[in-house]
Amino acid sequence: MSIAQNISSILAALKGTKAKLVAVTKTRSVDELQEVYAADLRIFGENRVQEMQEKQPQLPADVQWHLIGHLQTNKVKYIAPYVAMIHSVDSLDLLHEINKQAKKNKRIISCLLQIFIATEETKFGLNEAEAEAILASEDIKTLENIKIVGLMGMASNTDNQIQVRKEFQSLKRISDALSTQFHAVNIDLSEISMGMSGDYAIAIEEGSTLIRVGSALFSD
Ligand SMILES: *Cc1c(COP(=O)(O)O)cnc(C)c1O
Repeated sequence: MSIAQNISSILAALKGTKAKLVAVTKTRSVDELQEVYAADLRIFGENRVQEMQEKQPQLPADVQWHLIGHLQTNKVKYIAPYVAMIHSVDSLDLLHEINKQAKKNKRIISCLLQIFIATEETKFGLNEAEAEAILASEDIKTLENIKIVGLMGMASNTDNQIQVRKEFQSLKRISDALSTQFHAVNIDLSEISMGMSGDYAIAIEEGSTLIRVGSALFSD
């Protein structure tokens, strides 16, 4: 199927839900990104700063760029002028740096706390207590140029759908708990970024609001 056909079948699965599609365009050419744009998608997810930097000036200005991969503190300054959302925040230090760079650019940058929900050891992320500690910290109140809008998680890379569903349910439970507990000018946990090409249908059933789909957009 074409990119446009792939996109319309994914959007059909989202119909009647709150979830939005983040088109994960990592490793794809600018021509392919333009096809995604022509199919009316506006949220583009990249996992590497350098790649996002190269593509951003070549796409129309109304693209909302989401950084979905691990972010090093020293790279925040490159994307701060335009990035719409950072899905992969995993420390208070990183939030401080995002706030500092957002302020320089007179912007407020939306952030998600990345929660570790998988069984693999290699994935980045916070556990519930660590996320809670960040949200409860005195520091966070001073960060006026960020807004924490939700949580992000990646399920285990497995064919075991029961396992994947359990992991998404655990992220939803953590989101429910933290969103009732924490409200502030710069904290409003309403987004849950979960679900990729292989598991977005399960993620939607379990309450995802942002699915991050790459390979399924571009498959023939
Ligand atoms: C690559 C990537 C995705 C998309 O993965 P697909 O399986 O290609 O849909 C989603 N989230 C993150 C963090 C990624 O790095």
